[in-house]
This record gives sequence, C-alpha cells and structure tokens, in this order.
Amino acid sequence: MLPTRDCVRQTPAYTPGEQPQTAGFTKLNTNENPYPPPAEIFAHLQEQLEKVRLYPDPISKELRQTAAELYGITANQIIAGNGSDDILNIALRTFVNPGESVAFLDLTYSLYETIARVHGANIIEFTTNDQFELAGPVICPEAKLIFLASPNPPLGKNLDRDYLEATCANASGLVLIDEAYVDFSDDNHLDFLSRYDNVIISRTMSKSYSLAGLRVGFGFASGAIIEQMDKVRDSYNLDRIAQTLATAALKHHNYFEQVWQKVCQTRSLLITSLRDLGFIVFDSEANFILASPPHISASELYNQLKERQILVRYFKHPRIQNYVRISIGTDEEIDRLLSAVQEIMGTN
Ligand SMILES: *Cc1c(COP(=O)(O)O)cnc(C)c1O
Repeated sequence: MLPTRDCVRQTPAYTPGEQPQTAGFTKLNTNENPYPPPAEIFAHLQEQLEKVRLYPDPISKELRQTAAELYGITANQIIAGNGSDDILNIALRTFVNPGESVAFLDLTYSLYETIARVHGANIIEFTTNDQFELAGPVICPEAKLIFLASPNPPLGKNLDRDYLEATCANASGLVLIDEAYVDFSDDNHLDFLSRYDNVIISRTMSKSYSLAGLRVGFGFASGAIIEQMDKVRDSYNLDRIAQTLATAALKHHNYFEQVWQKVCQTRSLLITSLRDLGFIVFDSEANFILASPPHISASELYNQLKERQILVRYFKHPRIQNYVRISIGTDEEIDRLLSAVQEIMGTN
C-alpha cells in the first residue's frame, strides 16, 4: 500500500462543478461571471509574455498596493493568493496544528471540509436552522479557525451581522470570513478589520472580476496575521500574467460595478420567474440562487436540463437534495433556462 497519510486516504476527493469538454453548454453551474473582463486589461499582456523566463514578483507588490487603495487598507494588511482557495489553505496551515479543531457550518462551501480533513484537523460542524441560516453566534472555544462564508453558499445570503460580531468577539482562535460573493451584495465586513484582531477576510477575483481562469484571491487581516501567513505561502504563488491582469482588472472596477448591477437585475428576474412557476426560491445576495422545483425532483430537473445542454449544480447533501443551485448568466442564458424549465414542467 502507498504510504499515504491516514487523513488523506480517508478524505473523499473534492468534487468541483463540471467543466464540460465539448462546446454548446449553457454553464450555470459554477458561479462564473457570464460577462468577460474589459479588453483593456490585456494591454500589457505581451510585455509579460516576453518576460516569461523570469520569475514573477514574489510578493505581488503592485497588485497588493492596488487592492490596498481600492479597499482603504494598507498593503501589509493584504496577502495575495493563487485563488482564494490558496488563502483558505494558507490560513489553515498557519493557525491550526493537525489534530486541533476547525469549525464551519453544515451547509457551506464544501472545500472547507476537504482541506481541513487533508490537514488532519478535527472538524466541528454547526448546524444551520431550517431556513439554512446561521442559528446563532458560532461559539466554539476549541476552534483554532472558524470558516464562515458571507454571503454563504449554497443559499447566497449574508450571515446575520450580529451573530458574526458575537462570533468574532468570543472566538479564542481566528475567524475567516469568506467574502467570495460580496460584490453581488450590499454589505461587507471590512469594518471588522479595525475592530477585531482575530479576523481574516478572503476575497476572490474569480466571480465578480470575471477571472476564474486566472486564479487570484486575497486575504485581508492585521499586519501581524499577514506576516505569519506570508511565511506559509508558496514563494511565487501568483504568476506574472495573473498579477498583471488582476492589477489591471482592479483598476477597471468601474466597469465591473456595472456588471454586478446587471447580474443583480438578472437575479431578480430569475427569482420572480421561477417563483411564478411554483418554485421555492430563496432571496440571494450572490451570483447564484437556490431553488426547489414543484412536481418534480431536483435531480430529475438537473438531468433533464443537462439533456438540453444546460448545466446547473445539484448537491447530494440530504438537506438540500430537493434544490438546484443556478448561477446567474446573461439574460439570454436565463431565458434559455426558463424556456427549458417550462418545457420540462409541461411534460411532468
Ligand atoms: C468560489 C469560491 C471560492 C474560491 O474562489 P477561488 O478564488 O476561485 O479559489 C472560495 N469561497 C467560496 C465560498 C466560493 O464560492
């Protein structure tokens, strides 16, 4: 037998949403942004390609400086990651010894469980209430790290602010607030950084900045937290193309703000249309919605949509087995989805 670590052997592999290898699919399954980034961000790409034999800036200085200006914090409060998944892993490896505890909700981003198990951490799950929301503050003195996503997938709502405050105020370890979807929401938790010295906020450029293929994310925290995380980070964790394009994208945030508005408009339209068709749909503050169809099982809906080359996300988790998660696409994509749904419902 391979000398694999026990905790690795016992971890089921993380299953990302499908990336179909053939063209023609309407992809509403992995919360990518349906709108491309502006062409201007590619202006300096050629320069970087010509320097490809040279290592990139190990500390992503220009990118961090640009993010610092945009978010009103200092560059020493920012760590750049190869996607925000990198930030989650770095936080885990910086602050949790194998055998110590990590806490998160029973319904949330499932990667927290995978990375915690691979790390050999003990897992403490907090059960969400029957509306799939935080039932109260997460009080967990033994947790070295608490992962909380706000907005929280697969529901897409922000966690209750008072509960989050109480969680941070009472935590004996660190609290990582994963704001992967925050740009589609009216709220954020940047203000926690000045009030709590145990908070890390993670952000990603994958969804709101249309750069999922580039892998760029951030961690925001106190300089003391970032200093420790920086030692754990791979020394060249962002390649030079990622650094250059991500910096340019942040400088074009005005363009993206329009995209976010458009996505939020399409989200309202989708929610209303599905409710009119008899679906149960939760309000969402993210670029996806969670919906349960009438008269047909969610898995059947998923399969029938897939036959029509429309991909949505279906989770086998027992609490949400009657739901599908649908990413907000363009208006045309959502029209296509709604037509297909009507056709499927008409035949059932
Ligand atoms: C998509 C997602 C991430 C990962 O983002 P990357 O930057 O692409 O690694 C992290 N957290 C949550 C909650 C997500 O949905």
